[in-house]
Amino acid sequence: MSTAPKKAAKKTATKITKPATTKDATKALKSIPIKVVKSGAKADKKAAPKKRYDCSKCPGYCCSYSEIEVTDHDLKRLAKHLGLPPKTVEKQSTKRAPDGTRIFRHRKDHIYPSLCTFFDQDERRCTVYAGRPHVCRAYPNGNSCGYYGFLRFERYHSGDEEIVP
Ligand code: SF4
Ligand code: SF4
Repeated sequence: MSTAPKKAAKKTATKITKPATTKDATKALKSIPIKVVKSGAKADKKAAPKKRYDCSKCPGYCCSYSEIEVTDHDLKRLAKHLGLPPKTVEKQSTKRAPDGTRIFRHRKDHIYPSLCTFFDQDERRCTVYAGRPHVCRAYPNGNSCGYYGFLRFERYHSGDEEIVP
């Protein structure tokens, strides 16, 4: 296969001229094209590494952790999301761990021993997603989830896409 001969690069001398006055310097600076750097969710999404887990294929293992912390800020956000007073949400849905940390109450589950009280056990999803606490937003703290890797491994080797090890 033949390729087109490369064109000889046209040599151009770059002339750097020192601006004579502050006015000239300002004018010169204004002539430099400014590249717009996107900020916000769109830019973050572009820069973020691709997720290597899919919560929609998992029965919600992380919501079965016995101590899911609910800070004061989390409680206010959740209460606002639910349209209830924070005291009511605190009383109905949280309790204290032995070390005093405020945590979610649990309900018995048919897959894991128990799950966060806000987990829909039929749909296998969080019912307060937009109002969930910080710890739920941050988990699994990276682009991969150890449990999901284990789940994929077991499902692949058993040939059963529904199995929960
Ligand atoms: S255990 Fe991992 S894959 Fe499963 S719901 Fe939690 S973060 Fe998603
Ligand atoms: S608030 Fe939602 S995401 Fe957090 S543990 Fe409960 S069900 Fe899971």
